[in-house]
Amino acid sequence: MYINGKWITGDTQDYITVYNPADQQEIASVPSGGKKEAEEAAESAYKAFKTWSKTTAGERSLLLTKWFELIEKHKEDLAVCMTKEQGKPYQEALGEVGYANSFIQWYAEEGKRVYGDIIPASAPNKRIFVQKQPVGVAAIITPWNFPAAMITRKAAPALAAGCTVVIKPAEETPLTALKLVELAEEAGFPPGVINLVTGNPKEIGEQWLSDKRVRKVSFTGSTEVGKLLMRGAADTVKKLSLELGGQAPLIVMGKADVDTAVQETVKSKFRNAGQTCVCSNRIYVHRSVAGEFTEKLKLAVEQLKVGPGLEEGVHIGPLINQQALEKVQRHVEEAKNSGAEIVTGGVSLSEQSGYYFAPTIIKGATGDMLCMNEETFGPVAPISIFDTEEEVVEKANDTDFGLAAYLFTEDLSEALRISENLEYGIVGVNDGLPSVPQAPFGGFKESGLGREGGYYGIEEYLEIKYTSLSIK
Ligand code: ADP
Repeated sequence: MYINGKWITGDTQDYITVYNPADQQEIASVPSGGKKEAEEAAESAYKAFKTWSKTTAGERSLLLTKWFELIEKHKEDLAVCMTKEQGKPYQEALGEVGYANSFIQWYAEEGKRVYGDIIPASAPNKRIFVQKQPVGVAAIITPWNFPAAMITRKAAPALAAGCTVVIKPAEETPLTALKLVELAEEAGFPPGVINLVTGNPKEIGEQWLSDKRVRKVSFTGSTEVGKLLMRGAADTVKKLSLELGGQAPLIVMGKADVDTAVQETVKSKFRNAGQTCVCSNRIYVHRSVAGEFTEKLKLAVEQLKVGPGLEEGVHIGPLINQQALEKVQRHVEEAKNSGAEIVTGGVSLSEQSGYYFAPTIIKGATGDMLCMNEETFGPVAPISIFDTEEEVVEKANDTDFGLAAYLFTEDLSEALRISENLEYGIVGVNDGLPSVPQAPFGGFKESGLGREGGYYGIEEYLEIKYTSLSIK
């Protein structure tokens, strides 16, 4: 763990083992910290905030830029580490390191543009100034599916704004996080500005929630834990950003360019073996193109090579753990038993020792099936046919979630009309990979609160100070 500029193991005798999901081998263990370490981290961040918040945006930008450069220099090592603990193929891991780093680069610049306002006053002798100030210590709690990007997407705007941070990475993937913090130390961030605690999620979470010195919680993960944090944050009225589950619909209209739709569906559905909150979860295809789309998607999916992420040419790595594999199996079995047809895949690849599942296409999926109602978080593409625009929009919106949706059509009016009617925070029109650092990422409804990325993302770490000045 890293607290107040020191690497520590804390008081604990307990360790969390990190496994490689590609072969279930143990690769490392990290200390299982708890309340005490979380408290120390908050204390150290609180003290450091007093000076860090007074540095200039330019000084913070220089340190962020140094961090960016070091990550770029060590990107291959970071990617190998990520593939080992998380499972995603090396090229994809390298892509994530670049994506993660793009937030650091972007916020190194954006921190310089935290502008205020001067508002015309109501009396001749008064002046109204509006200033933005960092909110304070920010707690960052992240999931295993993007071991680097989920941290930098939060830490970069927080640090650029002048906040200090306490980070808790996922139990499954603490190693990439530790390496990132090592590089931040090398970049020269002062002690206490960045702290990282590994260990018991409940204890650490509860400590930060009840700690008045922590003024912000930024969380990415399950809706269940997000709701728990939201309740817990109420007692000390903390600022909250939540990026929770998705249930992304992907709609292929009759006027779609089917080849583009297929190509982008593969990206949206199968990256990270389907384990992202913006992965398309249910696919609606207009009856007029359903045959062609399904056939072409089958051809594309059958090209995908499954295997250990460090092996050359692999497109799909293992799922994160046994539980994840069982969920995918359950969804596929249930769909089969309810009358859906497996077009390709549909089986776990149990001859290999990791948690592998074959990329799968299901046709004849219906609204009552698990795979159409719950986030499968696996390489399974269930296809359902629709006839009218009204029908498909209603089906797409018929969920408590609202993170990402995808739409394929060459008709501009149709694209805008449907996009505006979709109750989603992100709509990819003919685009299966919409996430970039300068755009706002986040969801409607139970998919979360707040946005990450762009100038929206830094606002999440800022308070507004209105100063009314009366002059003589
Ligand atoms: P996932 O299903 O993606 O693993 P989780 O919501 O369980 O999602 O985990 C996301 C992050 O939240 C992880 O870092 C995990 O350790 C943390 N977490 C889980 N339970 C709690 C909790 N009760 N309080 C705080 N953090 C938690």
